[in-house]
Amino acid sequence: MPMNRIQFQPGLSLSAFLRDYGTEAQCEAAVVAARWPEGFVCDRCRCTRFSPTHNGRRLWQCKDCGYQSSSIVGSVMEHTKLALTTWFLAMYWVTQSKNGISALALMRYVGVSYPTAWLLRHKLMQVMFEREQATLLSGRIEIDDAFLGGEQPGRQGRGGNKVPFLAAVETDLRGRPQIVRFDRVDNHGIAAIQAWATAAIAPESLVLSDGWPGFTQLSSLVQCHEPHITGHGPKAAKHPEFHWVNTLLSNLKTALAGTFHAFAFRKYGHRYLAEFAYRFNRRSNLKAMLPRLLHAAVASSPQPLRKIRLPETAC
Ligand SMILES: [Zn+2]
Repeated sequence: MPMNRIQFQPGLSLSAFLRDYGTEAQCEAAVVAARWPEGFVCDRCRCTRFSPTHNGRRLWQCKDCGYQSSSIVGSVMEHTKLALTTWFLAMYWVTQSKNGISALALMRYVGVSYPTAWLLRHKLMQVMFEREQATLLSGRIEIDDAFLGGEQPGRQGRGGNKVPFLAAVETDLRGRPQIVRFDRVDNHGIAAIQAWATAAIAPESLVLSDGWPGFTQLSSLVQCHEPHITGHGPKAAKHPEFHWVNTLLSNLKTALAGTFHAFAFRKYGHRYLAEFAYRFNRRSNLKAMLPRLLHAAVASSPQPLRKIRLPETAC
């Protein structure tokens, strides 16, 4: 059997990580380079001249307007009391673990309290979620409706904790998966699916769906919509036109069940879905995933605890 190039890629070893990001000065230099790749630029007046100063953390004082800034001001790391080495170690485990990492495992690996590990993890997942929201699928796309916490929409189960979402996989001409989107939706009705498709799918696409009535209006949004009657159960899951969306849905559920024993689907499901998609969409270069997440984190906005605890719809 030929070796899977993506599956067997070396990734970022722990020794290479410690060599590149093992000290606070190295992490600070990486944040500065990500934030100001062309050198310091004042957020207020765009001046590029500064005086270095210090206030517990290295500060950059603009020579024109006097505004003081640090490398993490305005980013998801703003106001953190943690060392940057702790953030980087968390980014390492979040990006290099095959199926993600639980807050409990992060607590042990990084050496922080459980509430700190939980918040750190959700802040990084929020960064991933915001990145994935900008992904636009095009070409041949397999889509399916699914639920977190169960698969049968008619049976809401204990606590009614089943959360509807949509899965979509873009494949190349040879039918190989390229990028995926998993998005929470309020329901699988026509209006919700239309709103989702408008944001997630390019109009010139070929979309393949099953015969679910909520998908019927896709024909008016994309160049070609092919509904296939798949039936239900295991036979439907083996339908060849939906091979990749079914495979990735199965992988997602295995990953969530294996790594996270319990989480609030309804409140935070969007972040777990986005984290899986983020990792899958960057799977071809595991080593680059940490610097890419760092760039996204530096470009993102502050996420205080009260904001992180809001459900998706209230963000
Ligand atoms: Zn200035």
